[in-house]
Amino acid sequence: MPTTLPISETFYSIQGEGKLAGVPSFFVRMSGCNLRCSWCDTPYASWTPEGSPRDIDAILREALTHPARHVVLTGGEPMMFPQIEPLAAAFRDAGFHITIETAGTVFRHLACDLMSISPKLANSTPREGDPRDPKGTWRLLHEQRRTNVDSLQALIDACPQRQLKFVVSDQSDLAEIDALLARLRNWSPVDILLMPEGVTPPTAAAKAWITRECLARAWRYSPRFHIDLFGNVRGT
Ligand code: SF4
Repeated sequence: MPTTLPISETFYSIQGEGKLAGVPSFFVRMSGCNLRCSWCDTPYASWTPEGSPRDIDAILREALTHPARHVVLTGGEPMMFPQIEPLAAAFRDAGFHITIETAGTVFRHLACDLMSISPKLANSTPREGDPRDPKGTWRLLHEQRRTNVDSLQALIDACPQRQLKFVVSDQSDLAEIDALLARLRNWSPVDILLMPEGVTPPTAAAKAWITRECLARAWRYSPRFHIDLFGNVRGT
């Protein structure tokens, strides 16, 4: 197996989302994705993947120059790349807490402490006429690929801690979330997170309905601390 991975960026920052929001972490962003979310906030790792191959040893050496021992393997879709398995093993051997951020469409056995799954809802599908998808090819592929219940269940079962983070646009998304959760086992309400769509602060109305639903269902409201702290800029 090759010992290099396509990397769009590595950086040291504060985890902004999910159960570990606020924790200083080293981020490894793999370049390439099998989906094309309309609102993707890392298009340089999906719509127009950028970056270059990096060696696993070199990535680990860079991580070790920082004081934190939390690493986030993200993308793009990091599970697309078989080399994520030796990468995760190298971080495990070095004593890191490993979070994997995935859309949940691909399953792999690998070292992981928090499986952070973000199943993609219908609100993510590229719109007709999206100039990035003139023939509608990605619209079709995205819709075919975005939900893989077997893979989601395997990912949930494979890791001692998991979170299911849903990017929501409006209240109509809740019916789709409920329908998907009804097909999955081995999760509890505190594993379910709602996160408002967008890279700008949510409106008061959005905060109100998301808060109301989280309270009613004992789900979590996921912040985006890194946006508050640094703004919507790369490398944070
Ligand atoms: S799955 Fe993630 S990286 Fe891929 S297109 Fe969607 S938001 Fe972007």
